[in-house]
Amino acid sequence: MGKRRSPGNKPPRDGDRRIGRRALLIGGAVAAAGTAVLARDELGRLWWRVPGVNKPRKEGEVDFAGARWVSASDANWRRADRPDDYGIDTVIIHVTQGSFDSAVKVFQDPGHGAASHYIVRDDGHITQMIRELDVAFHAGNREYNERSVGIEHAGFVERASSFTDEMYEASARLTARICARYDIPVDRKHIIGHVEVPGTDHTDPGTHWDWDRYMRLVRQEVTARQRGTAAT
Ligand SMILES: [Zn+2]
Repeated sequence: MGKRRSPGNKPPRDGDRRIGRRALLIGGAVAAAGTAVLARDELGRLWWRVPGVNKPRKEGEVDFAGARWVSASDANWRRADRPDDYGIDTVIIHVTQGSFDSAVKVFQDPGHGAASHYIVRDDGHITQMIRELDVAFHAGNREYNERSVGIEHAGFVERASSFTDEMYEASARLTARICARYDIPVDRKHIIGHVEVPGTDHTDPGTHWDWDRYMRLVRQEVTARQRGTAAT
């Protein structure tokens, strides 16, 4: 998030409808070609559509130990089978421009059209609302949604006091775990702000977000985990 919109001005949706037609076309091609081999990447992209290949899921299960699960409305994300159908190579940092509770609420609202995987509160509490398996609509850019995990931070871009020590530390632990899980390099090319997503008009996390501090904390956490001395 990170941008206020005037009422009646609908937020941009991520519009996943295009794949339906494409999948149908490719599906027809598969049938016509019989045993002919399809390009590997085309199959890879379709893999999540093939029945029976979805990874098992349990209601309430989280990807980050300690996170609380609250489901986002399924209008705000798309079922997928990452990282097998779409590789994950980016973490996107957001600021909610509102309270933690209001962010949870809008992500549960099917009319909102957007939601992130996680929300971090100022006391370090983390709520997960969409599985990392799935594509959350948080970046306003379809390709970036497909390849990223989105982390919201409760607060306001223009308010430095939104970003507490507990928030930085909890978020850094979360990002470090995501980077380890998908082998994402810990650098500013792969851990980016919403503002850095191509084509966005959002400004979050804004100038008060301390990137040097955040990246240092993420690296410390990664190193601690490698040495087996991490706290969590
Ligand atoms: Zn944002």
